[in-house]
This record gives sequence, structure tokens and C-alpha cells, in this order.
Amino acid sequence: MNEFTTMDSTQLTTRIGLEIHVQLNTKSKMFCGCSNDAEDMKPNTILCPICFGMPGTLPVPNREAVEKTVRIGLALNSKIAKFSKFDRKHYFYPDLPKGYQISQYDMPFCIGGESTVAGETIRFNRVHLEEDAGKLLHLKGVNYSIVDLNRAGTPLAEMVTEPDITSPEMAREFLKELRDLLRSIGVSDADMEKGQMRCDANISITRNSKTSDQRLVTSNPAAMSVIVEIKNLNSFKFVEKALSYEEKRLTEDFENWPIKVTKVTRGFDSNSGKTYVLREKEEAKDYRYFPEPDIPPIYLHEEFNIEEIKKSLPVLPAQIKEKLIEFGVNPDDTLVLLKDQKLLKSILELIEKKPDRVAKISKVILNLVSARKLNIRQLIDLDETIETNQVPSNIVRQIVDDISSEDQMPSNIYLGKFKNTGEGLSDILAMILKDNQDAVDKYKSGKTQVLGFLVGQVMKSTQGKFDPNQIRKEIIEKINLA
Ligand code: ZN
Ligand code: MN
Repeated sequence: MNEFTTMDSTQLTTRIGLEIHVQLNTKSKMFCGCSNDAEDMKPNTILCPICFGMPGTLPVPNREAVEKTVRIGLALNSKIAKFSKFDRKHYFYPDLPKGYQISQYDMPFCIGGESTVAGETIRFNRVHLEEDAGKLLHLKGVNYSIVDLNRAGTPLAEMVTEPDITSPEMAREFLKELRDLLRSIGVSDADMEKGQMRCDANISITRNSKTSDQRLVTSNPAAMSVIVEIKNLNSFKFVEKALSYEEKRLTEDFENWPIKVTKVTRGFDSNSGKTYVLREKEEAKDYRYFPEPDIPPIYLHEEFNIEEIKKSLPVLPAQIKEKLIEFGVNPDDTLVLLKDQKLLKSILELIEKKPDRVAKISKVILNLVSARKLNIRQLIDLDETIETNQVPSNIVRQIVDDISSEDQMPSNIYLGKFKNTGEGLSDILAMILKDNQDAVDKYKSGKTQVLGFLVGQVMKSTQGKFDPNQIRKEIIEKINLA
């Protein structure tokens, strides 16, 4: 324990950036005609000289993959480059027989961008397209590894964020929302368990320059920890775990913070929950990037109708938020409504199907946490039930609490449980007023204390299932209308 660990945490800022690789769901591979669906295939059966990396073969870029990368860029509000190219990134690895990966270096397809999916704005640096490598399989009980090249040449979009994420939990949340976004625009299933989405995370801790504790400054004037990059995180849980471990480790290591910005690469051992040193972080120059000589540069705006692609995107969370605000929902409340994917989908359908009820139904969802589990049909049905029967809020809560499956309709629960002998409050009221005409006449002649008697009659015949204030209000309304 050093002084730093007891420091006020408001003087520390955690900065996390993510590099996300996602396999695109194209028909064929990135630079050849091989099938891109390797699931359940025997190792090394979906291969050709191009993705096998034979010398002298010529790669041809997959149009669908480029278009899907543009889709991602548009969904993230990136600038779509006018002029772009592929580059060779050199490194040796047994699952990369060519000795280089075709990637994009200084001219990615999509530049900048941002995403507000986690309730916060996270900026993107770039989105580029590259090819995946094969897979090494380490069998148990033998002293060698085998390689499966089916995955080699799978189109891989790489999304790089700026270090705008401020906590491990937020990183996890952000990734989930990004996965949902990628699914909703139809470019990938982005299933982390299947390796369709993989993540490298970098993290650093910065000391607030306004720190009041001079002892800290003198014990080590460095304002920032090393930047640690953690490689190959393959589940949402591991992303959060590895980052939490590293956040704590870096904070406690305050005395060794370097004066000069330093980057290191670490791996994550999911069994121990700890990270370990992999290597000094390699720099771009180590890869000896150069333009891929076998693929001509690409002019995206001439090759594609960018506006058309934009129009073909589904409504995105940021746009839904805007719409909700238009419908009168409080901006802070929209975050609640958009936080959960299922709810977001319902809200979207609601905007399409019942635009005039969006504000009302949003209010029900906001006031009643349990209503957030309902699907769109149930929500619309609940709204109609409330509206036609003037169901008071305590009954609404009971109806919603009673729903335990996707096909239970609120109206049926209401009818079966709260609407006596098949009649709602309004019908029962009409009946009671008819049966007690003299009481009604008394009320009309100014003897308003008779109202208590009428409310009591209604309460009795509905077995106290409705709110007395609600009943009182409706009796007055009904008499005044008559
Ligand atoms: Zn191939
Ligand atoms: Mn990459």
C-alpha cells in the first residue's frame, strides 16, 4: 500500500480505448472466392492458393466487405474517405503463411466517428478493413500445435476508439451496445464466443494536474501511468475483468510511473484473472507497412452510392433518442429507454406503429420498472386497456406484475382479475348510478355528501380493486355528463 492507493479517486482518471475486430458476414472471403462460412467445416477445407498465401497469387477485394465496412462507418458517423488503399502489414506468425496481412495503414475507409450507444459519447479514431489470419490449435497432451487456415482471409473490420471510456464496466457496456449496433445494421453476428468479435483494450491512469497533495508530486512527478494494451479479450466479462485488474495494478504502481509515455503489451489469463507481460508494444514502424502493390487504390464515392447505403441503414439508437425528444420525452429519460436492447426495439416499433402513443407509453415504462420486460404487443395492449378502462396506477402495477410470459396480454389479465363479471369500472359505475337514481338526484341538487355513499357502493361491488379517488373522479364526470 502506498500513499497513492489511499488518494482521493477523483484525482485519478482512467482512460480506456478499445480496438475491436469484427468478422464480416459476407458470402465469400476478403480477397478470393472461398466460402466465408467456416462453421462446422473440417480444418483446412475452405482454402485456395490466394487465402493460403501462395506466392504469385493476386488478391481481388470483396465488394460486399468494403460496402459493409462503409455501413459501419456510416452507422458510427465516420467520414467516408474519398481515396483509400490497402497496405501490407508484415509479421511472422504460423497462422499467416504469407508473412504479411493485407490491412489498411494511413488511409482507412472510415475516418473518425462517434457512438452514443452507451449513454455517453465515445469517439472513434477510424474503421478499416483487413483480412483475418488462420487459427492455431493447441492440442492437449502433445508437444506440437496444428494450424487451421479456414479462417484465413475472412474479412475483418477493425474499429478503433479514442481513449474516451472511463471505467472497465463502461467498456463492457459499450462493447455490448456496439455488438447490438453491428447486428442491427446486418454486417456481423458479432458473437464473441464464436470469435466473430474480438477486442484489444488499452488502459492508462492519469493524475489530475490540480492535485493538492504535493508529496505525491515530489515522490514521482509523472502524470500518467504506462499505457497497457491487453491483447485478445474474447468475452465481455474478460474485458471488464482484465481492465479492472490492470486499473488497480497501475494505480498501485504509482511510484514506477514513467516520465516518458511508454506502451507495453500484456495478455490476460482468464483462469487466474490476472494480466501478464507479453512484450514491449511494437510500433507501426516495426511492421514495415507499404501499399499493397496488387490492389489498386479505391475511390469509395465513385464505387458506391454512399447516400443509398446511408438510407438503407435502420434507425440507430442516436436517432431514436432524437425522435423520443421530439415526442416530448425528457432527454435524461431517453437514456433509460435506450439502455436495454429489447426495450429499444419496442420503442422503435412504437414510433413506427403508434407515434401518437409514444409519450404516454414511455411514461408507463419510466414509472413502472416491471413494464420494461413487456414486448411491443403487450405494451400497446396495456396502453389500450389503461385508456379504455381508465385503469388506476395501482391496478396497472398489479396487471404488469402478473405477466410472466411473452404471450400473456394485459387486457386479458385485467378482464379476468380486475374487471368484475366482465365489466370494467366504467360499466360498473353506469350500473350503480342507474340503480341509485335518487342518490344521483340528491347530488345534482347540491347534496354532495351523497358522493361518499356512491363511492362505497362501487367499492363494494368491485371488491376494493379500484382506487377510491379514481372512482370519485369518474362518478363526478359521469353525473356531470348525464
Ligand atoms: Zn481462398
Ligand atoms: Mn487489426
